[in-house]
Amino acid sequence: MGLEEKLPSGILLTSVEKLVNWTRKSSLWPATFGLACCAIEMMTTGAPRYDLARFGMEVFRASPRQADLMIVAGRVSNKMAPVLRQIYDQMPEPRWVLAMGVCASSGGMFNNYAIVQGVDHIVPVDMYLPGCPPRPEMLIDAILKLHAKIMDEPLGPKRAAVKAEQHTEMVPSSVHYAPKNSGAQRQ
Ligand code: SF4
Repeated sequence: MGLEEKLPSGILLTSVEKLVNWTRKSSLWPATFGLACCAIEMMTTGAPRYDLARFGMEVFRASPRQADLMIVAGRVSNKMAPVLRQIYDQMPEPRWVLAMGVCASSGGMFNNYAIVQGVDHIVPVDMYLPGCPPRPEMLIDAILKLHAKIMDEPLGPKRAAVKAEQHTEMVPSSVHYAPKNSGAQRQ
């Protein structure tokens, strides 16, 4: 059974937006890095049993220049935050971020000064995945939901405008969560 058998014979009509988004979502290449225990589940997802190759994304890239998906797998320490942001900045557009697990999404049980209370303080997040740790099936589900989101994205200047609204300035958690009248509050 090949692709040809699935396609109707004759003419196939679609929009440029749909075609481009289909190619983008069908070839997401994740950046290779894991921050904590969630990374073990992410690695398992890439292994043969779960077979991420089905979605055109078996290639985890060691260089952010060749990656367009950042899976933040694990808690982000304040020390790691600038490094994570640098990796994100080195990824070419279009790029997406998936916060994997409760720690990456919100700091989780690590409600302390050392851990960023949600990676969305550092980079804009496109998909949040709860769980501690999320199982590979859950990560695949989040990836499929991200695929659906990518299919609905606008292109060109419209996409740039949407992204501009999501601009995330890197702000340490200690400043975000400081009491309103403390010296650490942002001016
Ligand atoms: S969510 Fe759980 S498994 Fe994932 S990094 Fe946090 S503590 Fe580890």
